[in-house]
Amino acid sequence: MKYILIVGDGMADYPLDELDGKTPLQAANTPNMDKLAREGIVGTAKTIPDGMLPGSDVANLAVMGYDPQRYYSGRAPLEAASMGIRLEPDETAFRCNLVTVENGIMQDYSGGHISTTEAKGLIEAVDANLGNEEIRFHPGVSYRHLMVLKNDILPTCTPPHDITDKAIEPFLPQGSGAGMLRELMFASCQVLEAHEINHQRVKQGKKPANMIWLWGYGKPIEMPTFQQRFGLSGGVISAVDLVRGIGRCAGLRSIDVPGITGYYDTNYIGKAEYALDVLKNDDFVFIHIEAPDEASHNGDLKAKIKAIEDIDEKVLGTILKHIPDNTRILLLPDHETPISTKTHASGPVPFVMWGDGIKPDDSLSYDENSAQRSQLRFEAGWKILEYFIQGQRIQISA
Ligand SMILES: [Zn+2]
Repeated sequence: MKYILIVGDGMADYPLDELDGKTPLQAANTPNMDKLAREGIVGTAKTIPDGMLPGSDVANLAVMGYDPQRYYSGRAPLEAASMGIRLEPDETAFRCNLVTVENGIMQDYSGGHISTTEAKGLIEAVDANLGNEEIRFHPGVSYRHLMVLKNDILPTCTPPHDITDKAIEPFLPQGSGAGMLRELMFASCQVLEAHEINHQRVKQGKKPANMIWLWGYGKPIEMPTFQQRFGLSGGVISAVDLVRGIGRCAGLRSIDVPGITGYYDTNYIGKAEYALDVLKNDDFVFIHIEAPDEASHNGDLKAKIKAIEDIDEKVLGTILKHIPDNTRILLLPDHETPISTKTHASGPVPFVMWGDGIKPDDSLSYDENSAQRSQLRFEAGWKILEYFIQGQRIQISA
C-alpha cells in the first residue's frame, strides 16, 4: 500500500457573511476533493491538544502522527533539524523572523515576504554584528531564520503573525532572559535599517525587513522515525523549514522541488509530480502547501479560495490522474486559520480519506460542514495517521 498525505495549511475556516454563510472550503470549486469525499470518508481531527497553542509546529506534528504533548518542544528545534543544524543539549533554538515594524507597529511578520537571497544577506549582517560564541544566527528561507543560544532561558514570546497591525510593546519577550532578547531585537533594527539591501527594497517600493523577532524557542528533541513506527520510508515536500524539519526528525527525506515558495505563487503541479515520483520507490509522501495559511494571515479571502482551488486542481488533480494502484490519500488542514481573525485557531479540522480498502460513508463534499456531520471524530488528532496507515481496524474515541 502507498500513502499520500496532503496538508493545505490553515484551509479550515468559519462561515463568512461575504460568502453567504459559506466557508472558503465550501465556496471554492473543488471537484477533486469532493470526489474523494463521495468515494471515501470524511470526519474531524483535533490536531491541537487542549492547553497547547495552535501553531503549525504542534499541528503538523499531530498530522504526521506524533502526539504533540509527548514530542513537542518548540518550533525552532524542528526548523533547526530541517536546516541540518545539530543542537547540543545545552543549547536553545529560537525562531528569528525578519519583520517590518514602523512607528512601533508590527506592519508585517514576513518583512514583505522578503526573498531568501535578500534575507541571507541581512541575517549574515545580524550575525556579524550581534553574534558571538554563545549566540549564532542562521539564515533560512524567506523571512524564517534561526538563532541558537548557549543558554537555558525560559521567556514568554509571542508569534509575530499574531500581532499584525498591533503595537509591539506589550508583546515583546517577557520573563526569564527577556531582557537579553529585547536588546538583540532592538539592536537588530540599527543593523537592518542601515543595510543596503533594505535601502534597495525601499527604493523598489517594498517593505524593509527592519527588525528581527525572536519566538518559538525550544530544546533539542528525540522522536521515533516513521520507519520504526510504521515500517514506511518516504519523503516530505514543503517549502517551509518547520515542516521539512518534522519530516527529517521522523526520518523522511526532504524532497527539493524547483519553484516552490511557501506562497501563492508556488509550483503546485511540481509538488504533485515529485510526490508521484517519490512513490515509485517509497511508500509514503507528505505534501504540504502553505498558501492558504498565508492568504488567511493576510486576510485575503480571494487568495485563500484561489489557493484551495489550486490545491484541488493542480495538486490533487495531477495526483489523481497518475495515481498508482493500492494508494490511499489523506487530505486535511493542519489547523484552522480563519480569515476573520487572520490567525490560527484550535478547533477540530475536517479531513477526507480515500483509496484502497476505505469504504465510503454517505458524504457528498469535503468541507467543515460535511465533516462535522460525520461520526468519525479523532479527539486525539495525531491518531488519524495510524488509522490512515493501519486501516479501519484501530480504536478511535468517538
Ligand atoms: Zn499551519
